[in-house]
Parts: sequence; structure tokens; C-alpha cells
Amino acid sequence: MSEIEQAAAAQPVVPAWEYAPAPEATDIVKLKDTYGLFIGGEFVEPKSGRTFPTISPATEEELANVAEAGAEDVALAVEAARSAHDHHWRDLPGAERAKYLYRIARQLQERAREFAVLESMNGGKPIKESRDVDIPLAAAHFFYYAGWADKLEYAFPHVQARPVGVAGQIIPWNFPLLMAAWKLAPALAAGNTAVLKPAETTPLTALLLAEVIQDADLPPGVVNIVTGAGETGAALVDAPVDKIAFTGSTEVGKAIQRATAGTGRRLTLELGGKAANIVFEDAAVDQAVEGVINGIFFNQGHVCCAGSRLLVQEPVYDELLGKLKDRLGTLRVGDPLDKNTDVGAINSRAQLEKIGELVASGVEEGAFMYQPPCELPERGFWFVPTLFTGVSQSHRIAREEIFGPVLSIMTFRTPEEAVEKANNTPYGLSAGVWTEKGSRILWMAERLRAGVVWANTFNRFDPSSPFGGYKESGFGREGGRHGLEPYLQLEGRP
Ligand code: NDP
Repeated sequence: MSEIEQAAAAQPVVPAWEYAPAPEATDIVKLKDTYGLFIGGEFVEPKSGRTFPTISPATEEELANVAEAGAEDVALAVEAARSAHDHHWRDLPGAERAKYLYRIARQLQERAREFAVLESMNGGKPIKESRDVDIPLAAAHFFYYAGWADKLEYAFPHVQARPVGVAGQIIPWNFPLLMAAWKLAPALAAGNTAVLKPAETTPLTALLLAEVIQDADLPPGVVNIVTGAGETGAALVDAPVDKIAFTGSTEVGKAIQRATAGTGRRLTLELGGKAANIVFEDAAVDQAVEGVINGIFFNQGHVCCAGSRLLVQEPVYDELLGKLKDRLGTLRVGDPLDKNTDVGAINSRAQLEKIGELVASGVEEGAFMYQPPCELPERGFWFVPTLFTGVSQSHRIAREEIFGPVLSIMTFRTPEEAVEKANNTPYGLSAGVWTEKGSRILWMAERLRAGVVWANTFNRFDPSSPFGGYKESGFGREGGRHGLEPYLQLEGRP
């Protein structure tokens, strides 16, 4: 034992660090009792006459009632979008469209704390994530696409770039405001108008965005927001829109693809994933541990590109597993509004049940489950961060998207075996590679069938970088110059 190691061994065992509660105040959020639909620049009562409650998944408390758009409401929203497109927005010079997008971006920054608190209240994600990731990235997306609005002829030289028309956009509950930004910013920059359908469980930040849109004086009808459940989404798919952009489950994505097939309408799908995070023996192990933890426990694992399958090269397996277990024990699970919380609430009871069912299948099929000691709040929807070892490729927990804080760990010996195992999935959204060799990163990236390959990092997002999948993870790209293409007709392209 070296002198330093001897000195360390002689130290008394330090008790676990206790954190005092550090709750973010919620008084900045002014909730209404009932929210209408945002159609033609105004909040209107639904023709359906129906509303539904939206809750906090951390407390199960009701936060507000939200209008449920029926087919008639969706039709009115599409009409408003069509009229705004044909009579105003598509003919506005790009520099003028950009001004509105810059205004929205700046207002998101100015009201960032309000948005972050509301996002955590309604969705259950830790405030430090909504504050440091969701809201800044949503603003960055509007800034980024505002920059393209008057440069479409440079983005797509030698062709006429025209808007597609009215976009129907359906988004999920895992990144409610960020997904709204991913959908709206490129569509508007390219001269389209939009009807956005937020997820049933997380409508509130989209409705706050509607207030920002009003304050930014966006012409009425350019953005319309119809809240509701799956039926509202289906009504939007059936409505006379020119393009559908969908993020969500592969199952619903397939149904939308069937519904739009042969109609000539454009479609982009961003669906599920079962990403491999691959750690080679030469990786910086502590850095890799942080990357693996971030890869699967960020946003409670409710991330389509989550690194939910960990592939570890055999020589570092024991060391990495030991460190992962230690790190798991330090994750603080609980109140999403506490600034120290690492893992917040599961988004809904239905999602909690789905995670529970898949985890039970892992145990039944013979994998070994590890969960650190962890106290969970009494009310609300919670799941202890979980690791599985002894996982084989045929287990459901290695094949199916769990969309929760659950990591399935497998091993490999050679780079070829890592590639084969990583690609052995119907999905292809993302992958991670941890190694100190640049040449190996490039070798792996060429062979991994995934839309994004991160190297020595994970879950990095930037508006300028295209994102999207292969195979059952969908098609089309969001972000970057590529993200404009689905919203443009490029006439005269060679
Ligand atoms: P869905 O695919 O059902 O939801 C995504 C969006 O589509 C929501 O706005 C939803 O509305 C809407 N929708 C539902 N049914 C239809 C339909 N028939 N036509 C048009 N739109 C529809 O995902 P879930 O919320 O049910 O989650 C199920 C699983 O999907 C998760 O466990 C996870 O594995 C995966 N998922 C993947 C996501 C990703 O980012 N790739 C995101 C979310 C989920 P509503 O919410 O009101 O039902």
C-alpha cells in the first residue's frame, strides 16, 4: 500500500452527506383554473365542451383543467393555420419571420424560471434539468432557426425553397417545451404555420408558450395549440394538414404512417430507442461512470435516446460495476422542485406500471436486479434507480424500450462483438462509445446503426446538430439545416 493509500485507509468513515431541502419557490407560476384551446391567436372554449384535469406526478395534486379538443376543434385550428399561411405568413420576408422567432426566444429566456418551475411541476423532472437543459435549449432552438429564416436560399442553393403549408405536430410528455420548440421553430422559420398537440399529461408549458406567442404579436393562426389525448392526435392526423411531425412511441408512429400512406402528405417520425452505451477497457472509467449515469438516469430515463443498454468490455466490468453501484447510491430521488434532486417523479401512473411490468419480466427471465437503499415519497409516482446484470440479449429488458430509470448491463470481448450486440435491436436512434482511441471512435461510429453516436459523452444536444433515427426509431431529422428540409418544398432540385 502506498503512503497515500495508507493515509486514506486510516481516515474515519465519513457518514453519508445529508442535504438540507432546497426547494424552488413556485409562486412565480400563476396557474389558471381552466385553460382553453389556443386557436387563431386566442384562448377559446372547446366546441367539444370537454375538459380534463392535469396533475403533478410528484404529488398527484390537480394543477388545472385543460380543454380537450375534439375533431371539430382540430378542424377550426387547421382552418386558422391555413388562413394564416395563405394570407400572410408564407409571403412574409424571411427577415420579418425571424423577428418573431427572436422575440419568442428572448421571452423564453426572460421567463425561464417560470417555465422551468412549471415544467417540473407538470412533468416531474428535476428542476435542475428543466432549468439548465430544457428551457435554455428550447430558447436556443428558436434563436437558431430565427437565424435561418432569411437564409433559406443559402441553405438550399440553386433551388426554390417554399414552405410546405400547414404542419400538424404531435409531441410527447418527456420534454414538453423542448419538443414544442423542436417542432415549431423550423416550421415557422421555413414559412409554415402549425397546429401543435401536446401530450395529455404535460400540456401546461405549451399553453404558457401560447401566452409568449401572444406577447410576441405573432400573427393569429400561425401557431395553434390543441390539447387533448390520443384521440385529439388522431383527429389531427386525419385533418387536411400538409405535413405531420410526430415524436412518441413506435406503435403510434406506425399507426400514423398507415394513416398517411398514399395521401401525399409529408411525414417525419421520431420514435423509440434502445441505445447501447459501449465502454472499452481503455476508457477513463470515472468519466464513463458519469456518462453512463447521465445516459440512463437523466429525466428518469424518459428519454428516447437514453443509454439503456450498457455494453462493457470484460476486463473493466468488475471495476465499472462497482463504481456504478456506488454512484447509484448517491443519486437523490424525490421532490422535482428540490434543487438537489437528481431523479424526479415518473411522469404518470401508466408509465410507472409499464416500468414495473418490464422490471418484473427481467427478474422472471433470470437477470439480477440491483437497487440501492432509497426512500421514496409516499405520494406520487416513483421508481428506484435500477441496474440489471446477467442480462442476455433475448431478455425483454434488453430488447424493449423501458423508458424509465433502469439499466441493462451486458459484456463484450472484441470491438466486432460490441458492434454486433449494439446493432442487435429493431431501433437505431443513438449510441455512445467510451475509449481513449480516436481511431476506435471513428471505426465504431462507421458501423453503429444509430442516428447519433456520442463519443466520451452522452445526451448532448445542440440546435445546430441533426437528430433522428434508423429502423424503428423513425425517419427524418430535426435540428440543424437538415431540420428545415421536411418543412420545405425544394423546387428545381437536380
Ligand atoms: P404515445 O406515442 O402514445 O404519445 C405520443 C404523442 O402521441 C402524445 O401526444 C399522444 O397523446 C399522441 N397520440 C397517442 N395516440 C395517438 C394516435 N392514435 N394518433 C395520434 N397521436 C396519438 O406515447 P405514450 O405517451 O403512450 O408512451 C408510451 C411509450 O412510448 C413509452 O413508454 C415510451 O416507451 C414511448 N415513448 C417514446 C417517446 C420518444 O420520445 N421517442 C416519447 C414518449 C413515449 P397523449 O399523450 O395524449 O396520449
